[in-house]
Amino acid sequence: MDADRAGQLLRDKCQEISPCELCGNKEWLLSDRCWTVAEWKDSRTVVGPAMPMVALVCQHCGLTRFINAIALGLIDANASQ
Ligand SMILES: [Zn+2]
Repeated sequence: MDADRAGQLLRDKCQEISPCELCGNKEWLLSDRCWTVAEWKDSRTVVGPAMPMVALVCQHCGLTRFINAIALGLIDANASQ
């Protein structure tokens, strides 16, 4: 994953990242990897397509925000990556 590009896309879409809702800190770390959220159905993880996410982690308390990498424009949903 291109963390620099993810950071630029995030800055383009959000003029300012709001402070952490748990501790009020304003320092965030953008992950250099994508993570996935898988579908959950009938008490099981469904093996199949997953939602790619970029993590934004509060540098004080660790609260983590996940941003959809497709909606952000980092990953093309139609490309195989
Ligand atoms: Zn925090």
